[in-house]
Amino acid sequence: MLAPGAIIGILGGGQLGRMTAMAAAQLGYRTHIYTSDPDSPGAQVTPLVTVAGLDDAGALGRFARAVDVVTYETENIPLDALDHILPHTAVHPGREVLRIAQDRLAEKDYLRSIQVETAPYRAVASAAELARAVGELGSRAVLKTIRMGYDGKGQVMIGPETDLVAAWAGLGADWAIVEGFVAYRCEISVIVIRTGSGAIANYPPVENRHVDHILDTTIAPARLAPELAGRAEAIARRIAHSLGVVGVLAVEMFVSGGDDRLLVNELAPRPHNSGHWTIDACHASQFEQLVRAICGLPLGSTEHHADAIMKNIIGPEIERWRELLREPATKLHLYGKRDAPPGRKMGHATRLLPRG
Ligand code: AMP
Repeated sequence: MLAPGAIIGILGGGQLGRMTAMAAAQLGYRTHIYTSDPDSPGAQVTPLVTVAGLDDAGALGRFARAVDVVTYETENIPLDALDHILPHTAVHPGREVLRIAQDRLAEKDYLRSIQVETAPYRAVASAAELARAVGELGSRAVLKTIRMGYDGKGQVMIGPETDLVAAWAGLGADWAIVEGFVAYRCEISVIVIRTGSGAIANYPPVENRHVDHILDTTIAPARLAPELAGRAEAIARRIAHSLGVVGVLAVEMFVSGGDDRLLVNELAPRPHNSGHWTIDACHASQFEQLVRAICGLPLGSTEHHADAIMKNIIGPEIERWRELLREPATKLHLYGKRDAPPGRKMGHATRLLPRG
């Protein structure tokens, strides 16, 4: 167990690192942020910062020796970076979980191997293979890069009219995954927390609405029949358990229209945007739970004392901060980012509602 006063190292200086550092501070821990940007949201909230690239073996080794445990706030971390840290310090969730979650193909193969349902998919390495796969999967499909995809980046929707040669060339990748299009009723996610001793907890499923491929709104809890919510929770817990996650795992799923099947779309082994509502509406937030899990503390309660609607504040929407501050039931969170280009997550606002 790491007692309060220990130093938690966080790879990445975005808003997830920032909110983890704030939760850690509340419990008396220190955090050391590893980031390439000295003014990143994470670096603004702790004096312990390493400004270096993830390819800087020397800096990674020094960082690892200066902290008591390491976690990461993005899955876009090269595995090589962990290899410079692991000789000195534990990393949670571990290397294997990161390897699977940062590779869409490995992720889907893994899910299939543990009998978790996903959209049908094929790996493709040329326009000809893409054409064959689309022939098998149906004319509506989604072509995605294997790596570094988030917020809809590296993704092409394919329909009956799509020029597959151009779509393949446009992706600019050596290989990719193509998935059958899921006619979903809604998108949900379940956030699970697991400790090293196997204790596990989850928040209720939430419903996620995207605009331009970026999460816009989370409705918590999701408006699902209890049987469906229970199935979603069981799937997420099973994945966290079989991966041996120590920390937080977000599991994104589609609820298919008509037959209510649950198809897992993506895993994120870190706090997730769809869990920001837990800061204001739950006994212990996803960030606090991450700190508890990686420090070997007992988990907090995932009970919610309010329902919530979390709205991301994206790009120029930041101008609404005054108006949002005036709403009595709304909690405003801003990430300290200077520039607000379209598509950049600048903050979020959580509106609390009576528990339904
Ligand atoms: P992803 O990058 O995999 O999280 O996908 C981003 C968004 O694209 C998802 O939130 C969905 O709205 C949509 N999407 C991704 N994959 C599929 C699919 N197989 N069928 C339908 N929509 C999808």
